[in-house]
Amino acid sequence: MKKLNYLSDFNFRGKRVLVRVDLNVPISRGKVVDTSRIERVIPTIKYLVEQQAKVILISHFGRPKGQFSLELSLAPIVDSLNSFLDSNNQAKFCIDCIGEEAENAVNELNNGEILLLENLRFYPGEKSNDPKFVSSLAKLGDIYINDTFSCSHRSHASIVGLAEVLPCGIGFLFREEIEHISDILKHPKPPVAAIVGGSKVSTKIELLHSLIEKTDLLVIGGGMANTFLRTQGYEIGKSLCENDFLGKAKEILESAESHNCKIILPSDVVISSSIDDAANCEVVEIDKIPQNKMALDLGPITCNNIITELSKCQTIIWNGPLGAFEIPPFNVATETVVRAVSSYTKQNISISIAGGGDIVAAIKSSGLKNSFTYLSTAGGAFLEWIEGKIIPGIKALKDNYTEIEQEETLEA
Ligand code: ADP
Ligand code: MG
Repeated sequence: MKKLNYLSDFNFRGKRVLVRVDLNVPISRGKVVDTSRIERVIPTIKYLVEQQAKVILISHFGRPKGQFSLELSLAPIVDSLNSFLDSNNQAKFCIDCIGEEAENAVNELNNGEILLLENLRFYPGEKSNDPKFVSSLAKLGDIYINDTFSCSHRSHASIVGLAEVLPCGIGFLFREEIEHISDILKHPKPPVAAIVGGSKVSTKIELLHSLIEKTDLLVIGGGMANTFLRTQGYEIGKSLCENDFLGKAKEILESAESHNCKIILPSDVVISSSIDDAANCEVVEIDKIPQNKMALDLGPITCNNIITELSKCQTIIWNGPLGAFEIPPFNVATETVVRAVSSYTKQNISISIAGGGDIVAAIKSSGLKNSFTYLSTAGGAFLEWIEGKIIPGIKALKDNYTEIEQEETLEA
């Protein structure tokens, strides 16, 4: 098996360490609203500081289309980042991520100091993994550490390119993520259930196909369930539906039958005229959805059915919320099933793992994040792992693995 370098494999003293983190945090009116992503990279930063490295943090933020955009600057993140760091060793910020400004800022760093560079995606070379951009970034560091499993399904310069040109390894968060996910998913205890929700079938088709082969129970909820109801001949009114995927949905249902995977689709749903009309919602059976209404959550009969079936499963994998959970009461199905899964986990009936931005946000807002076996910050990378795909960031780190030669570090 090919290996990865961990933080403990390096001697960081006096080295310029480029650390790829995920600081793509939700911001509202210039303030960070959820600091989870920041908090989870702090252990790696603190370790590097203790080891007397020159810590250079690099991250993307939003989708700036390869050019500067004031709203997508990482500058407002620095205060929030600094609130988790020692008050006498705060991170500085540089208004560029390559070039003279960045080089000067890096040159000014003393051992143990921290610098955050501006949004990598202000340059198109980040996404295209342009060798020129890679070499401008690589100039700034002696060692490359990837601490974002959640971005490692992307073949970008700061994920793949840097691993190819600098001595490389992974940080604590990356290691924790892959160890937990592989612990649970390598030999999952049967029966295995998967819950897949979210808005679109189109983004999760491959996932559904591979889950059918690997699981005993597949719960399909959220907006994507409507496409399945439609393919079964139900009228679904104004509900979100991807008509181009009716055929694919049918294939999935047929494949489930031949693989002995039981599928749960909604039998009742919560409908309303629109997502903004929560006051006038009602529960109906799926053959009674009026033309001018849309399904925005699963109904109580469906939820009960899901909870009963999940109680028989020893492993539960979850991606995507079951309804438009951002707006109550369309969060009820997600919340109800979150409670059930966390209770099965607490009673040691099941091992539970959830991955994906929205489902993890929903679990956190239920206050039950500690009663799942593991929550992964990764959405896309988590899904690709389940699908059995090669993750480009991990491949690059392994392909370029070289044993680190330990220098003498004994001190009197
Ligand atoms: P995750 O981030 O957990 O992978 P997704 O991004 O795939 O999840 O999907 C989350 C989105 O799906 C949420 O914004 C939610 O409002 C939406 N959604 C869920 N159910 C419905 C529904 N019935 N109709 C419309 N949107 C829905
Ligand atoms: Mg999402």
